[in-house]
Amino acid sequence: MKTLIIRNTLILLFMVFSSTVLMAQETSLLGGFARINITPDKRVTLSGYANRKDLSTGIHDSLSARVAAFQSKSDKIILVSTDVIGFYSGTDEIIRDAILKQFNLQPQQLFLAAIHTHAGPSIILDKKRGHANNVEYTQTLQQKLITAIGQALDNLQPISVGAGNGSSPVGVNRREVYYDEAGNPRLWIGRNPDGVHDKQVSVLKITAHDDKLLAVLWEYATHSTSLGWENYTISGDVHGLAEQFIERYLGAGVFAPGFAGASGDIDPWYRVLPGFETKNGWVPEPVLLGTMLGEEVVHVLRKIEATSPSGPIRSIYKTIELPGKPGGEIKTTMDHPKVPLNITVGRLGDVAFVGLGAEVLSDIGLAIKAASPFKHTFIITHCNGTADYIAPQHLYVEGGYEVESSPFASTAADMLAKEVVQLLHKL
Ligand SMILES: [Zn+2]
Repeated sequence: MKTLIIRNTLILLFMVFSSTVLMAQETSLLGGFARINITPDKRVTLSGYANRKDLSTGIHDSLSARVAAFQSKSDKIILVSTDVIGFYSGTDEIIRDAILKQFNLQPQQLFLAAIHTHAGPSIILDKKRGHANNVEYTQTLQQKLITAIGQALDNLQPISVGAGNGSSPVGVNRREVYYDEAGNPRLWIGRNPDGVHDKQVSVLKITAHDDKLLAVLWEYATHSTSLGWENYTISGDVHGLAEQFIERYLGAGVFAPGFAGASGDIDPWYRVLPGFETKNGWVPEPVLLGTMLGEEVVHVLRKIEATSPSGPIRSIYKTIELPGKPGGEIKTTMDHPKVPLNITVGRLGDVAFVGLGAEVLSDIGLAIKAASPFKHTFIITHCNGTADYIAPQHLYVEGGYEVESSPFASTAADMLAKEVVQLLHKL
């Protein structure tokens, strides 16, 4: 009898133990990270300003692509931060397809994003339209992205994650009012400190089970355009320099993929500098701003104490058709057709990632964050698509560059925000 009790107890203990192990395996979170140098090795055309026709003259700082892969059970999301302007000229679909095929992924599992630096190469695969060096660069970039994603997936290990927020003054609303000769208010791209701007710095801390820091994923809303249109050197500009600062500060083993938040109407506080000002020990503006932003990311990181080794991963990918701008509205002569916009939403425990395939203005990002059911919501623009500027309805009264060049009707922004919030609730 006694032997039977001992035996049964042992069996019970074994069952409890094995189910606990099983549960731990089921709920445990895995993460893998990688970085690859994507600095052009030939002179290339630079993207972001139509007036710049010549090839790049040198390298100010190197460009990288950084990958963060997360897995829980069979669910997986892969976030890619690329130090380029965006995957324009149809390259988004081609490169995404190649990645999805290579790793047998579903569209909702990939967030292919660009930091939107205007000091990086034009991304183009069309030999008739692009410079040969840029076409070659883009082909190599595709292969490098695949290599880096493969490395991140090979490096998957048990992780804990925690999130936090800070604030940075590095970006500023750029829709500045001036008065023309007749005394009428006009808008130009300048500096408008009273304008709306989401100054939040969102940070995700990722540690290994021995508490070793593995990666810090972050998001901040500004254009990376501090170098301006007279610059011909390659640079990651504000986001790229911040990534580099964080990685150097925290140690070479740490990965710091950065993402551009809702920044369609936001520029760096200092922008358009024809050359680097170094007189009297002055730190060049892009370096100063990148360092300030990177320092805030590190500051927030230090304050994140609670991290969790579990949490479900879910994601949804959806293309929505938004109304195009009707003829007659804001310098538009003809009716714009409906404009598709790709939305990718992902969940990692109580953190949400919102990938938007467009150039999104501040109010839209703020509206999504305010209505998000998640504790932390990262807005990742220039992600899985390149649908141009999308601006909130109230700005259609005053116009300005972003509204004038947008293909969207004034009602589109509200529809987008509503759709994103509904998708977040479904995660
Ligand atoms: Zn832009």
